[in-house]
Amino acid sequence: MNYGAIKYCDIANGIGVRTVLFVSGCRNCCEGCFQPETWDFSHGEPFTEEVEDAVIESLRPPYIQGLTLLGGDPMEPENQAALLPFLRRVKAECPQKDVWAYTGYILERDLVCGGSRCTGDTKELLSYIDVLVDGPYIAKEHSLILKFKGSANQRVIDCKRYGRTGEIVELM
Ligand code: SF4
Repeated sequence: MNYGAIKYCDIANGIGVRTVLFVSGCRNCCEGCFQPETWDFSHGEPFTEEVEDAVIESLRPPYIQGLTLLGGDPMEPENQAALLPFLRRVKAECPQKDVWAYTGYILERDLVCGGSRCTGDTKELLSYIDVLVDGPYIAKEHSLILKFKGSANQRVIDCKRYGRTGEIVELM
C-alpha cells in the first residue's frame, strides 16, 4: 500500500487531536473529489515499517486522541489487507487510542458479507474502527457547516456499536 500524506496534530478529521493517514487508491470516482490524485494506488510513497513506527510513535502522547484513516479509500480490498496488520499493532501498542476511518462505500451494503468491498479482512478490520464515516462525496450535498464530513449524505457511524448489535447509529 502507498500513502499520500500523514498529518500530525490534526483537528479536522475526527474528535480531538489526531494523526491522519491518507492512503492511496480509490475506485469511487466521486464527482468533485478534492483529491483525485489519491485515486491512483501508486500515488505517494510506500507505507513501510518505518512509516508505521512513526505513526505509532505519534499516537503515544496523552493529548493525542487517536488515528484517522483517510484516502483514497481505506476500504479498497488492497488497502484493507495492508491496514489490518497495522491496526492490530495500533490496538496492541496504543489500546487507549480511538480509530476513525473514512470510506466512500456504504457500510451495510458494501462492507458486509457478499458486499462489493467485503474480503476476508473486512470483519476484523471493522472491529478495530471506532467511528466509520461512510458514503461517497456528493458535491450537490456539500455544506461547510457539516462536522467531520463533506456532504450531507455521509454518515458518522458508531462502528463499535454496529459490530455488537448490527444497528446503524449516527453520532452527529
Ligand atoms: S471516496 Fe473520497 S477519495 Fe475517493 S473519490 Fe470519493 S471523495 Fe475522492
